[in-house]
Amino acid sequence: MEKLHINLDEKSYDIFIDRGIFNEIGKYISKVYKKKKIVVVTDTNVDKLYGDKLLKNLKMSGYMPAKVVFDAGEENKNFETLTEVYEKIIDSEIKRGDLLIAFGGGVVGDLAGFAASTIYRGIDFIQIPTTLLAQVDSSVGGKVAVDTTRGKNLVGSFYQPRMVVIDPDLLKTLDEREVRSGMAEVIKYGAIYDSEFFDYLLGKEDLKSSMTDIEKIIKKCCEIKAKIVEKDELDLGLRMILNFGHTLGHAIEKYYNYGKYTHGEAISIGMYDITKLGERLGITKPGVSDKIKEILKKYNLPIEDEVEIKDLIEIMKTDKKNISGILNFIFLSEIGKVEIKKVGEEEITNKLFK
Ligand code: NAD
Ligand code: MG
Repeated sequence: MEKLHINLDEKSYDIFIDRGIFNEIGKYISKVYKKKKIVVVTDTNVDKLYGDKLLKNLKMSGYMPAKVVFDAGEENKNFETLTEVYEKIIDSEIKRGDLLIAFGGGVVGDLAGFAASTIYRGIDFIQIPTTLLAQVDSSVGGKVAVDTTRGKNLVGSFYQPRMVVIDPDLLKTLDEREVRSGMAEVIKYGAIYDSEFFDYLLGKEDLKSSMTDIEKIIKKCCEIKAKIVEKDELDLGLRMILNFGHTLGHAIEKYYNYGKYTHGEAISIGMYDITKLGERLGITKPGVSDKIKEILKKYNLPIEDEVEIKDLIEIMKTDKKNISGILNFIFLSEIGKVEIKKVGEEEITNKLFK
């Protein structure tokens, strides 16, 4: 069993990582919650696979769980679903001081976490992430949000969970494409923060052999994310480095209306492109983009797309959350080290994809 502590003063919490930990969930919950009532919020896919089991496990530990299920998919991470979720939580007689469990991928974590942060002006919640992306990224750090018709994650808050419980065995039912997508974020952590970890991932034979060590890999990612969040909980500076590959990646996702690529695939292309640009601008050491290409290919992630850079620039310019303007990019100076730099529109057009 791996245990991490994320230090945020009175909002500090533990992250537990272990295969099969899901079956002993009650033991962990009792560390932070002494009452009986719990509401589990999950989506239809996760519910079908694990919903009954979770409720049974909770009951066996003496809890009185209720369950709220919403339709799976990013398209449901919105206010309509949120309203339904609030009402079902209220109907299940959950009161202030009771506990919510967000049980699912990043969509569930973000929506259920936002519900927890606002219902009755806030109730405690625990994250049980079930996708690789959620286990290495979205369940840690306290960002919760829903989408609006104007864009993704435009309404949300910072609301830390009381605990994160990660069971890598839950990933066995996940589509391989989703697993590979999560690997893109895993690779990102190595690229921005830890060259040794990067080399370790590069040294793996393939995705399958990484999955046999996935517990260690998840721990490493959570450790890195925890360190960054501890220094910059509210995303005012350092936390920005987690967006490596994301400015371009988001634009690519948006260009294809979220239909062509998963998030991980899009940031994979974004990471490679920004590293190429960095080399051409003299910010990134020569040869780094080849290493990025090699590792992304190893995990069967895309590195190129035929979209024109001028179209991406237009999208980046209108990104509503981009207060500092589109020209602030996260570059690698080398593997494991970042440099944040403003780049002019012309330089991007002239130097990228040429
Ligand atoms: P997701 O939650 O939609 O899950 C992907 C699919 O896998 C869904 O269909 C889901 O039902 C299914 N699924 C989940 N667990 C499963 C399992 N164990 N077995 C089989 N199927 C399973 O997507 P995601 O990639 O986990 O998360 C994406 C979301 O996370 C986005 O909304 C993004 O904005 C958000 N996000 C948030 C943060 C943050 O810091 N809060 C960080 C990164 C991403
Ligand atoms: Mg991401």
